[in-house]
Amino acid sequence: METSRAVTNTDSSDLPFPSGSRPPIWRLLVVLVALVLVPAPSYAASQGQPMSGAVSETPVDHTPDAVTRARGPVAVPEASEKTLRYYRSGNVLWLINRAWALLIPALFLFTGVSARIRDVAQGIGRKWFFVIAAYVIIYFAVNYLLTLPLNYYQGFLREHEYGLSNQSFWRWFGDSLKSLMVTVVGGMLLVWISYLLIKKSPRRWWLYTGIAAVPVMMLFMLVQPIWIAPLFNEFGPMQDKALEAKILQLADRAGIDGGRVFEVNKSEDTEAVNAYVGGFLNTKRIVLWDTLVKKLDRDQVLAVMAHEMGHYVRGDIWKLIVLFSGLILVALYAIYRVMPALIRQFHSRFGFDEPADIASLPLILLLLSASALVLAPVAMAYTRHIEHEADRFGLELTRDNHAMASALLFLQQENLANPDPGPLYRLWRSWHPVLADRIRFANTYRPWETGETLEYGALFHQAE
Ligand SMILES: [Zn+2]
Repeated sequence: METSRAVTNTDSSDLPFPSGSRPPIWRLLVVLVALVLVPAPSYAASQGQPMSGAVSETPVDHTPDAVTRARGPVAVPEASEKTLRYYRSGNVLWLINRAWALLIPALFLFTGVSARIRDVAQGIGRKWFFVIAAYVIIYFAVNYLLTLPLNYYQGFLREHEYGLSNQSFWRWFGDSLKSLMVTVVGGMLLVWISYLLIKKSPRRWWLYTGIAAVPVMMLFMLVQPIWIAPLFNEFGPMQDKALEAKILQLADRAGIDGGRVFEVNKSEDTEAVNAYVGGFLNTKRIVLWDTLVKKLDRDQVLAVMAHEMGHYVRGDIWKLIVLFSGLILVALYAIYRVMPALIRQFHSRFGFDEPADIASLPLILLLLSASALVLAPVAMAYTRHIEHEADRFGLELTRDNHAMASALLFLQQENLANPDPGPLYRLWRSWHPVLADRIRFANTYRPWETGETLEYGALFHQAE
């Protein structure tokens, strides 16, 4: 699973697999939530993000090649010095980003700039809808400029410094502008719906907005693979037809009919490896990064694919929609309760005195960022569970413990992921179980050897 991650590039964990990059479905959901939750998330940021560390600094016998040659259990790797540096500075950046997400909207509010943007917007657009549109464009454009230096450092300079990115500056910059565009278009839709509901129903808008978020999320997931992802990278059929046939055969066993597999040209941006399940209804698909196909051996690719198929078959996209809907509702209710008091207290500085005034948008974004911070551990506890089950599904489907464990090790190395991060990281930033745990599980989970019932065996088309 993956989601679009609109937010920053710093942290990431992809659903699919790696802990170094953010996954598509996740990205979707997060983009969406971020559109609401975080001031100006940049989709591009996450696009250029994962990256691999190519040069392995781990002990020689842990390198993917060596592991691939010897087929035993895979040793849980120690983090290299470089990985630790990347991890620690990443934590600092994460904190800066979270603080930024509170600080920027606060700045718009307390300086009265938000009220001034509203006045300008009212001058541009006469009709209510156009006032909203003009406000959104100005707000996100200013926010983009204020955040550009930070994004340039974390999304470009730092990734190059660690050998994770091979994007040119102009490509990075182009992607960041495209992200801004996606944010503005998506933001207009969301803001327009929310303020219409605030206006029409001052007491229940939080509930109606939460309900309206469900179809919006679905729409977003539906169009993400066909309209949004192709803005950033080229998607096409798999190049390696023999491998594609293997994958389709595996999909068939997993009970997926007519599954579609796409390869995306990510090697232009990164050396990191990843795969994800994306889309919705008839845009649902499994996507492999071309880097994954190039760097992993066939069995490892199949192990990764089996994990993705687990998400597909278990309907994890639906579960995420339900989860995020619930969290959005909680956040909106909190905002509904807190907002009037804040406006009463500071209305002369803010320059507006009711929630339905579009100038209150930064206040909503600020409170959403705060809520997101509080709710993140809940969301991640659940996604870690989903990911763990997808690993279990994958292992039961392939019964190839070594391929799974060594693929995980490979991802750890390529994406400079800390295999064993600290408790705060686990709680607030781990969409996946930490890699050390996943590798241990992949090494040892083999109920088929003792004749135990497989958790997902009944779903497989022709169990062996
Ligand atoms: Zn996953």
